[in-house]
Amino acid sequence: MEQLVTKLCIIGGSGGGMAAALRARECGVDDIIILERNKMLGGTFRYVSGIFGVGTELQEKAGADIDIDYYYSKMMDHSNWSCDARLVRKWYGACRKILKWTQDSLGLEYYNLTAFSGTSLLFHQGGDRRFPTGTTLARLMEAKLRSDPSVRVFTETRAHRLLASPDGRVCGVLATGPDGAGYTIDAGCVILATGSVSGNEALVKRFYHRDDYDQLKVMSKLPHNQGDGLTMAEAIGASTGAVSCLYIGPHNHPHNMRTGLVIRRSQVMKINCYGERFVNEALPNMEDLGWFECVSVDRQPGKTVYGLMDQGLLDRMMRERTNQTAVEAFQGNFTSDDSTGDFDKENVVELKSGASPAAWIDSLPEDLHKEAEAGRVFIGDTLDEVAGWVGCDRGTLQKSVDDYNRFCSQGYDEDFLKDPMYLQPFTKGPYYCLRSYSGVDTFIGGLMINHSQQVIRKSDWKPIPGLYAAGVLTSGWLGDNYGYYGSESSYTLYSGYACGENAAGFLGPA
Ligand SMILES: Cc1cc2nc3c(=O)[nH]c(=O)nc-3n(C[C@H](O)[C@H](O)[C@H](O)COP(=O)(O)OP(=O)(O)OC[C@H]3O[C@@H](n4cnc5c(N)ncnc54)[C@H](O)[C@@H]3O)c2cc1C
Repeated sequence: MEQLVTKLCIIGGSGGGMAAALRARECGVDDIIILERNKMLGGTFRYVSGIFGVGTELQEKAGADIDIDYYYSKMMDHSNWSCDARLVRKWYGACRKILKWTQDSLGLEYYNLTAFSGTSLLFHQGGDRRFPTGTTLARLMEAKLRSDPSVRVFTETRAHRLLASPDGRVCGVLATGPDGAGYTIDAGCVILATGSVSGNEALVKRFYHRDDYDQLKVMSKLPHNQGDGLTMAEAIGASTGAVSCLYIGPHNHPHNMRTGLVIRRSQVMKINCYGERFVNEALPNMEDLGWFECVSVDRQPGKTVYGLMDQGLLDRMMRERTNQTAVEAFQGNFTSDDSTGDFDKENVVELKSGASPAAWIDSLPEDLHKEAEAGRVFIGDTLDEVAGWVGCDRGTLQKSVDDYNRFCSQGYDEDFLKDPMYLQPFTKGPYYCLRSYSGVDTFIGGLMINHSQQVIRKSDWKPIPGLYAAGVLTSGWLGDNYGYYGSESSYTLYSGYACGENAAGFLGPA
């Protein structure tokens, strides 16, 4: 067993852990060890395409609505005030500083502010455009840390136990490196940044609050997200907090990504297994909190829904070659195989060289026919045939389409108030019916912290001295549902930054 000594040990070398290390260095901590169980740094953060921010300089320059108080209040109401109000307040208030930090200190350039939210420009994308924002940012953070002699990075090294002194103060970590080499690390302070619990089925089952776990399709069961930080902290008496689901649907994962994007388009009518519409399909376009649609999909029988469109709508989409979002442009260049997620492959989402962002739509007819052959899409000349495939009552489906066409011609959706700009009537066959499901992208939270990122002890609700936590491992920053698009990366960066600063304060002057 090799003995190491450091001032600050950070467990997890992704967005949260690297932000913590960088900020701790800026605050004068001159000896840091980062432990990362993967071969490379960057974890799940490499897949981030957009980052939430409110009140940022970038938004101000773009002339966007930047009222922090408004977005804060909206989020708190949306979560029924079930989040830690002070933690969220601090995070939203720090967005301007954190995004500027990624520019000034790390050199990230932003190129898009409008990916999802038409009205409020909350979603920032940056980098060199060939990679998701998170990949570029992770590389910038890694380069800075690797060039710093005060930071030692141990990859392929998994922490498995926290050490605490008799007075309860955290004083070290046990870890196992490549080839089973053991390390005992004496540390003045420890930051946990091990990410989601999604890859650990036992933990997920423990925290999931409904009785339909068996029907859940969890997308991001990443092997590195085992909830180690939670397990280690609980073993020394830490308290647990709420775990939220990030629903993502309608989704055809892990099959063809391009038809998956089309299902999610606002113009495509959504029906459930009864052949009835159930949602305002344009929520993701109209609302900063567009995840509402995903929750609605999750509540449908069998967690299964269908996207219905006709040749008229397909022709129009092909003709206009519009991308609803920059993210869609990016994702449209995945191949089907990529979408099954080889998460160790570094550049999995690199834009194909020379590809136009809108080019993915050209192969849509071919994709639809391939999906039809695989039984996941139905192409038929009549609504009766579609109803037969869905297994719903023919009259009900016919009425849904008749009502929808009427809403289109009057420009008013009597049922769910969909914005008229997305109301496009069924005009000519064949019909395309795309089966899709609700999914859980990831589970968020688990470890209870306070608004200074200190881990809370179960026995007396006081902070455990010397233990901080960052990123999606922690509870309290989201309510029962997801927040604004890009919240995870935004909070991950903020909480890492705050952990680094607070840990430096705890350690005192160098
Ligand atoms: C496909 C995809 C797309 C996404 N897109 C977006 C987006 O556009 N916007 C957004 O805001 N969010 C997005 N997310 C979510 C975002 O990636 C995560 O929320 C964010 O990366 C969380 O950062 P983290 O540092 O908390 O955890 P992670 O990035 O998961 O990092 C945890 C790190 O800890 C390491 N680790 C775990 N246990 C140990 C241990 N015992 N010892 C040592 N190391 C350990 C892991 O290997 C990993 O590197 C996306 C996620 C996925 C999967």
